[in-house]
Amino acid sequence: MIPYLDLKRVTDSFEPGLSKALENAVKSGWYIRGKECERFEKAFAKYCGTEYCIGVANGLEALTLIFKAYIQMGRLNRGDFVVVPANTYIASVLSISEAGLVPLLTDPDTQTLNLSVEGVKRVWNPQVKAILAVDLYGRAIPGKELSEFAKIHDLILVEDAAQGHGAVENHKRAGSFGDAAGFSFYPGKNLGALGDAGAVTTSDAELAKTIRALANYGSEQKYVNLFKGMNSRLDELQAAILSLKLPRLDSDNAKRSQIAKRYMKYISNPLVTLPSPGKPGEHVWHIFAIRTSYRKALQEYLTHSGVGTLIHYPIPPHRQSAYGELGELYFPIAEEIADTELSLPLYPQMTEDEISKVIEAVNAFHL
Ligand SMILES: *Cc1c(COP(=O)(O)O)cnc(C)c1O
Repeated sequence: MIPYLDLKRVTDSFEPGLSKALENAVKSGWYIRGKECERFEKAFAKYCGTEYCIGVANGLEALTLIFKAYIQMGRLNRGDFVVVPANTYIASVLSISEAGLVPLLTDPDTQTLNLSVEGVKRVWNPQVKAILAVDLYGRAIPGKELSEFAKIHDLILVEDAAQGHGAVENHKRAGSFGDAAGFSFYPGKNLGALGDAGAVTTSDAELAKTIRALANYGSEQKYVNLFKGMNSRLDELQAAILSLKLPRLDSDNAKRSQIAKRYMKYISNPLVTLPSPGKPGEHVWHIFAIRTSYRKALQEYLTHSGVGTLIHYPIPPHRQSAYGELGELYFPIAEEIADTELSLPLYPQMTEDEISKVIEAVNAFHL
């Protein structure tokens, strides 16, 4: 069986350094907000090309904290609308509601499957104060276009970079496209911890300072609370792991890209639509998303052929009971993606043999 993702293999590929880094962090005697967190924050901000990085507990809270901080700063008000693509993972939408803002869903571009300026324009109204664009499947958002549009209309552009670590668009890296970005380091992401972890990147000093306080009970100085904050911190063990893994992110993404190139070149089946690759570096292939009208049959066929697959995502946010409040909404593109998407295994530690087997299995599928 070729697993969809073999996390043990990913982790083993970082040994013996990983265990050593963990041992050092354990023996340091300091576990929250220490040297390891600071070291990773500096390295990751530099990598993304932003002034600041704030380590937090997970990706959802990274995004939520950005919105809460803008409210605290008076840049957003409760009830303001935030445009978000209808085909995203539900965490993007949850971060908006959690901060007391209102998600305004819109269909993505049919080629990139990402939010486009067109998509924003389709739903824009004067109550819209921000955009949350998502580097979905690892493909960079059209950062330049979106930030130009945001500037003209005085909107805040937030990037959900949870799937985009290292993606490049217009000489900028994911995390630096908008006013602020939220990252997840959930174990399966392109840069993954061994547990939950996340970060905010931004070049806005006031935002960075506000988020740092909000994520630490709303305090800058111990026992002095400026805001009603939360507890969302990156621990020293996860930070040590992330610092060890970060230097290999680019070469791991290059390996992902090599595998994607082979899939694009050799998968040839009239029943299957391949993803659109974008310019070099634009896609870091967190997910290799094919589409087919015969998804159930293909997924079963691949399982029988020993190829593990997943669906990202079978039910779009506006069809979830959690968002019943949004009423009857219809997004043809998002719904088409939810009905036809199938993700093939793609991670740097796959063997040549496994890659070939995936290609052969997809090509052998017929009705
Ligand atoms: C993983 C993910 C998140 C949430 O990250 P967590 O660390 O699991 O909270 C948010 N948005 C997208 C697009 C994701 O893929």
